[in-house]
Amino acid sequence: MKLILLGAPGAGKGTVAKELTKLDGSVQISTGDILRGAVQAGTELGKKADGFMKAGDLVPDDLIMGIMEERLQEDDCKKGFLLDGFPRTIPQAEALKELLTRIDIELDLAVNIDVPRDVILDRLTTRRTCSNTDCQAIYNVKSNPPKVEGKCDKCGSPVIQRADETDEAISKRLDTYNEKTAPLVGFYEKEGMLLTVTATSSEEVVKSIQSGIGK
Ligand SMILES: [Zn+2]
Repeated sequence: MKLILLGAPGAGKGTVAKELTKLDGSVQISTGDILRGAVQAGTELGKKADGFMKAGDLVPDDLIMGIMEERLQEDDCKKGFLLDGFPRTIPQAEALKELLTRIDIELDLAVNIDVPRDVILDRLTTRRTCSNTDCQAIYNVKSNPPKVEGKCDKCGSPVIQRADETDEAISKRLDTYNEKTAPLVGFYEKEGMLLTVTATSSEEVVKSIQSGIGK
């Protein structure tokens, strides 16, 4: 399958992508991974991207598209791929459409994993992470608390709420998503490619995607 996965932070895109890749051997592709891959491989585009990242700047879209173009034509993408967290904006979606036409790849669907805001807030703000950087075990104060409150089961270090997982930080991330990325749902709807899945478990999302593709 060749899919774009859309969904707010905390909607579970990563988990769904992992389960889908197990089904048919398609590969999960995220912008961060392919940038790191190109830098490690030392390609021309990778070297350019590295310059931007080292300077703490965003990698420009045309460079990301160039790296995406190389990545999508690698052998492991022949069985299919899942774009996770890309495109992020309408200009990127337009550039991707142009690129796919040029390299003759047809997408099956853009899947919008639609999880209510309060469910996402609850899911993310109840997460706790072990403060020991070598451990980083993840807990959830509701569904998976440490045996001793505030202490990691594995290493005994304090278990903390990450700065980017507070109510305030997550509300801000969701607002940014709604402003920049949510319009993509309309874009793919117009393209006739959109499948919206309103489910809260990854199994249900996977099932809906399978029946949506007809595979
Ligand atoms: Zn720990």
